[in-house]
Parts: sequence; C-alpha cells; structure tokens
Amino acid sequence: MTPTLGPATGLDRASDRRSDREYIDGLLGADNVRFLVMANGKPVVVSDAERTKASIRWFSGKQIADMGLAVHEAIFMGTDPKSGAGHFAVATTEHYARNAPVAKELLTPIVDLRSLAAQGTMKPEELSLVSQAISLANWHDNNRCCGRCGGSMSNKDGGWKRRCWACKHEVFPRMDPVVIMAVNDGERIVLAHEERFPDKMFSTIAGYVEPGDDIEYAVRRETLEEVGLDVTDVELVSAQPWPFPHSLMLGCMARAPSIDLKVNTREVAEARWFTRSEAAQMLAGKHPDGLWLPGSQTMAHLLISRFVNATA
Ligand SMILES: [Zn+2]
Repeated sequence: MTPTLGPATGLDRASDRRSDREYIDGLLGADNVRFLVMANGKPVVVSDAERTKASIRWFSGKQIADMGLAVHEAIFMGTDPKSGAGHFAVATTEHYARNAPVAKELLTPIVDLRSLAAQGTMKPEELSLVSQAISLANWHDNNRCCGRCGGSMSNKDGGWKRRCWACKHEVFPRMDPVVIMAVNDGERIVLAHEERFPDKMFSTIAGYVEPGDDIEYAVRRETLEEVGLDVTDVELVSAQPWPFPHSLMLGCMARAPSIDLKVNTREVAEARWFTRSEAAQMLAGKHPDGLWLPGSQTMAHLLISRFVNATA
C-alpha cells in the first residue's frame, strides 16, 4: 500500500544545481518556465464544476508578471526530465487572488489540498508536488526572521534554504516527525476521538517524536501517555509527508498485551477498543452509530485498513 502524498512528483529536483543562482535565473527566464500558484496554502487548479477532475493549473512567466506576482521568492520544484522546463511554486494570499486585476481572472478555482486528496481526482504525482510546495511555503512563512539574531532571512538555493542577511545563519526546510500507530491486540484496535476532530470521527492515536526518541520509543511513550498501554512489537509500515504544516507521518502497527485503557483526557477526548468488524464498518462508512474515519489519503486510513484486512 502506498500513501497518496508521496515523494514521487515526476520532476527532477536538481539538488546539485539549485545553489547556482545563474542556473535558477536561467530557468526562470526561459520561455518554457511553469509556475504553480498557492493562495493561503491552497493550489490553483484546473477543474470542472462538479470536481470530477482536477489538475495543477500551470502559469507562464508572462502570466505571473501580468498578475503582479513576484518571482524572486519562487520555490524551485524541479525540472521536467523530458523538456528540461523549470517548474516553480509561487505563494500569494486568497485576498490578492480574489481582488487583484488579472489575478482575479486567472487564479481560480482555489481548492484545499485535503479536499483534492479526498476527492481522488488529481493524479498522485500532482498531489505530491502540491503537497511538497505547500510544505515548503509553510516553512518559508514561519522563517521570515532569523532565529539567532532576528534579522530578515531570504530565499537561497531556489527556496531550499534561507539565509540571514545580518549574521549569515542558514536554515534548511524542516519536517516534524510524527508517529501514528494502529494499536491492536490482534482482534481489536484502539481508536480515539480528539476535541479538534469533526463530530463522530475517530482515528488512530499519534504524537510528535521528541528529541532522544527513536521511532519505537516514540510509539511506546505516546501510547502510554495517551491511553495507558505499554505496547510491544512496534513495526514501521509506511511514511508519508503531510504538509500541515510540514510533518512526516511515520505509520506503525503496535501490539497491546493488555486491554485496560487509561485514557488521558487532556490528550484525547475519548478512546476505546473497536472490533475488526466495527472498524470495517467505519472504513466503509456504514457504522450503525455513524462513527467514521479519516479518508483514504491519510496514514490513519492505511493503518486501519491494514488491521482490518489482516488475518489474526
Ligand atoms: Zn541572523
């Protein structure tokens, strides 16, 4: 099973060449350059009214200039392996996209990545590319100023680095590792509802990896903290970048030797055991109480499917 938002974007990131400003400027100035635009972290796409299809809406250099969007902070996403065309991402605001001359004609529709992934109408390489662009744009947004001296930072290496003008401190795109685990006893699985979740949605438990943790330790520590179970047999199943704002989801299965839950209500509103058939009903959207799970684009969905489809 492969998660939806993976690393394969179909573009060559040219990581050995992107520190060369002339190379980047050459790509930016070429006739075949292409830009994707994000407004408040949501991509502009080509779609029909019913959203039965969706793809990235690519813009030319002239269109970007006509819309008044600046390219000096454009993020280099890679080159097309066939044509060599440079592909870049430009971030703007929804307010600008809806009000500025020319932009308001071209920057539409703007669709949230979660909806695009849930609809399943965009090609996986394009979803991955948008996910990567959003993750980088979020990181840029959160690193306007130098964490060391407070000076302003600017985009280097096509947006894969930022450097402080004053003290020359450099920072690199950050990802936050998160463990997400299907804790089960072979027949039943622990699922939790958090305050921030939509009504009746349950999911696997999860938590940030802390300094000093390895993946197994993080799974054991977080599971103990959240539901009071000391799990064993931690198995890393899959990993998925998740650009909200820039996480790396590390999906694991873990075995619970006991079924006594001690739910930490400061961490989760509710957590309980669900049988395999109940979890299958939830996956299918047919639970009698209307309980449901995150969509097929998520790591939680992949892990719960794996549990449901496993023979105990
Ligand atoms: Zn500095």
